[in-house]
Amino acid sequence: MSENRKSTDSFEDLYADTLHYHINTGDEVIHAKRMPGRFRNLKWMTMATWLFFFIGPYLQWSGHQAILFDIPGRKFYIFGATIWPQDIWMLSLLLIMLAITLFGVTAVAGRVFCGYFCFQTVWTDIFTWLEDKIEGNPIQRRKLDKAPWTAEKIRKKTLKHSLWLLVSILTGITFAAYFTDAIELWHGYLGFTAPFIAWVVLAMFIAGTYILAGFMREQVCFWLCPYARIQSVMVDKDTILPTYDYHRGEPRGKMKGRGMEEAAKGDCIDCKMCVGVCPTGVDIREGMSEGCITCGMCIDACDSIMDKVGKPRGLIRYLSHKEMEGVTLPPLFRRPRVITYSTIFMLAVTGIIYGLATIPPIELSIVHSRQPLFMRMSDGSIQNKYTIKAVNKLDTDQRVSLTVKSSSGDIHMKDAEYFKDITLKAGKLVPFSIFLQASPASLEHENTDVQLTIQGITQPEITVIYDSVFVGPKR
Ligand code: SF4
Ligand code: SF4
Repeated sequence: MSENRKSTDSFEDLYADTLHYHINTGDEVIHAKRMPGRFRNLKWMTMATWLFFFIGPYLQWSGHQAILFDIPGRKFYIFGATIWPQDIWMLSLLLIMLAITLFGVTAVAGRVFCGYFCFQTVWTDIFTWLEDKIEGNPIQRRKLDKAPWTAEKIRKKTLKHSLWLLVSILTGITFAAYFTDAIELWHGYLGFTAPFIAWVVLAMFIAGTYILAGFMREQVCFWLCPYARIQSVMVDKDTILPTYDYHRGEPRGKMKGRGMEEAAKGDCIDCKMCVGVCPTGVDIREGMSEGCITCGMCIDACDSIMDKVGKPRGLIRYLSHKEMEGVTLPPLFRRPRVITYSTIFMLAVTGIIYGLATIPPIELSIVHSRQPLFMRMSDGSIQNKYTIKAVNKLDTDQRVSLTVKSSSGDIHMKDAEYFKDITLKAGKLVPFSIFLQASPASLEHENTDVQLTIQGITQPEITVIYDSVFVGPKR
């Protein structure tokens, strides 16, 4: 049977495939029928956003890889922003923001993330699309699976698995390229000079993609995905989901030919097309299922059937439980879950924007040496040692001066002239030590507040101040 059934097909033809459409019990491969429609088009469009994953590592920004998670260098480049370990709290906020977005979207429209964006369902869709192109429609595929191993079967299976492996390899290399120089990585793989860890990552991703998208498919959604388990606590009676309108559809019954609509009292003609197109093999007519990824393929299928039998579309449609019972949905801004999720989302976004806007270009960490707290020098002066770590987060070298100011006493820096013009290398952490000295007579207290200031020379607008103490003998 062709993938796009023509409206001239007979009603007998309509039922020809139903034998092959059954609910997923996990003991055989689901061969879902691919049908065109509004939600199929939407899925293609949302899947296209994953193209960014494949081109992301090759984008350049200010002379470096636009997105680079440099684990050995302990910094992440995300376009213009360089995230250092000190700024990792922003990544935590980002994760909270993404989780809350997922919760919010689920509360409003169920598992649309699963149906349209999740890498598992997207990669599975790409794999089954290739399978469909090479081995034919679901009926042909089932026949081929059962057929003896002929040259034709070997050719088709070899081609399919080769293409699956190619997609898996590209996925693995692309993932690894986010963690190192992408071009060097390609050279490393092609010349077999890549580091061992790069091969391990690649092997894991090839195996993971090939097995999860090629073989396990919807079983991952059923058995491995934790999100499927917890979604029931995120949805409520206001959540819109692909829903079978049982008021309209029941009692269902088969049509035996044109003019025999009376055989079916409801609008559902029990063609099982909605089951046949379901990538997870569930029967939406049985109610909400943890296997339903809300992809809307059953809506497209049923709409096409309704068109054929001359009944209004929408027997299966995005609908909330309340709407099904004739209650009008409250507006989004009056739903407690939406308000809660939106508030947390906005707080996280505000935190990230604040963080990005206030990342200091140069960061100082100063540790006062504790062993000993101070030293008495041969000339009688008191000396304190400080270990300084200065991080230049900018893309250019920075000349800066380091000076000290004290609240009282004559505290000065040893080799102060040297520190009047030092260079901090771009994107580097520079550790060094300084010594502050004072005459004991000038110290009024055991502890004296001191202020260390980094003042930009290359960029005079840069000023970083760090407060510490100078420790002297007990008074
Ligand atoms: S709900 Fe629609 S697609 Fe599913 S069996 Fe009934 S008529 Fe066919
Ligand atoms: S029941 Fe419908 S919406 Fe749910 S996974 Fe199957 S085809 Fe997609």
